[in-house]
Amino acid sequence: MDLLEHQARDVFARHGVPVLPGILARTPAEARAAADKLGTPVLVVKAQVKVGGRGKAGGVKVVRTPAEAEEAARAILGMDIKGHTVHSVLVAEGAEIAEEYYFSLLLDRSSHGLTALCSKEGGVEIEQLAKERPEALARVEIDPLEGLTAEAARDLLEAAGFDVEQVGAIAPVLERLWEVYRDEDATLVEVNPLVRTVGGEILALDGKVSIDDNALFRHESFAAFAAEENADPLEEEARRLGLNYVKLDGAVGVVGNGAGLVMSSLDVVAYAGRDFGGIHPANFLDIGGGASASVMADGLGLVLADPQVTSVFINVFGGITACDQVALGIVGALEKLGDRATKPIVVRLDGNAVEEGREVLRRAKHPLVHIADSMDDAARQAAALAAGK
Ligand code: GDP
Ligand code: MN
Repeated sequence: MDLLEHQARDVFARHGVPVLPGILARTPAEARAAADKLGTPVLVVKAQVKVGGRGKAGGVKVVRTPAEAEEAARAILGMDIKGHTVHSVLVAEGAEIAEEYYFSLLLDRSSHGLTALCSKEGGVEIEQLAKERPEALARVEIDPLEGLTAEAARDLLEAAGFDVEQVGAIAPVLERLWEVYRDEDATLVEVNPLVRTVGGEILALDGKVSIDDNALFRHESFAAFAAEENADPLEEEARRLGLNYVKLDGAVGVVGNGAGLVMSSLDVVAYAGRDFGGIHPANFLDIGGGASASVMADGLGLVLADPQVTSVFINVFGGITACDQVALGIVGALEKLGDRATKPIVVRLDGNAVEEGREVLRRAKHPLVHIADSMDDAARQAAALAAGK
């Protein structure tokens, strides 16, 4: 997940990276109060959206009074920046900038390590700089086990053309930024601009931090942001249940075991759905190889709770877990769900112990369950049922 600038600045501050104080505001009045509280002669009001180029789009304004901060916030809140609506602004102390630099540290899959980038020409779009004047962008590969050592930080800064005094001032900040990267399980830490103020201080004026989603369990506060941000209540419920679920907007709920099988299930449903006025899959849900009764019950319960779902397609290939076990899982799930199971369910089983599996379903005689012979047949039945045919 990507952090918003104000979250990145909070993380920076925790790790000793110098930033100026700021206060988040959601309304123009809050922005005015924040400016009043900060009380500095120069302030910046900055759109909080997860996209760069806010300055160019008019989402960053330098102001001098609380009244101006309020006015700036009124102009910026609600603004659309590259498809992102601005819901909050950061009101921060303004810096008197002497020079703007660029620094980033990122996971580089091609080098099987980390790459640190630095330039004396920050504040500009870095992709453009990299293309037009690649010599202005210094690059050092970093061993992830060693990290950005004091020596590597100095090498990088020297390669970028900083003089000895500047290297001495900036290197410690880069080391703190490495600590952010390491301790927060980041995949990217970018500061553009890193500035030297007229008073000679080095400050991170902007921050872009991406956290490895697979490490969110180690960072409760970020996980909470991620959940808050996730507007879809079904996806939130899925996360709570530990299910691999993505909400789509069609009518056929899909449950399968194995990501590849579920992906192709979505395709066959969409294909069959063309004959029924454009029926589409309602979700992606992979319940994994085990497909026990309780996981099947959780998954089926989740899919049935989607008000857009009008039929369900369960697509299972018996491998290590044989089809009869999966069928028992489906029967058990329907028992557990009781009255909550209200929509027709088409089941396609294949693979290990397929006949035994079908027999389990036939004997259960559940009124909502339809047994299909093949994947195409199942998708067609599910699409027809979803269309009310
Ligand atoms: P971005 O455009 O989304 O990358 O937003 P930034 O936070 O990088 O801000 C864009 C530009 O606004 C910076 O490059 C600075 O030139 C300017 N800026 C940001 N904060 C301040 C500040 O405190 N004082 C001054 N004078 N300019 C600022
Ligand atoms: Mn920036």
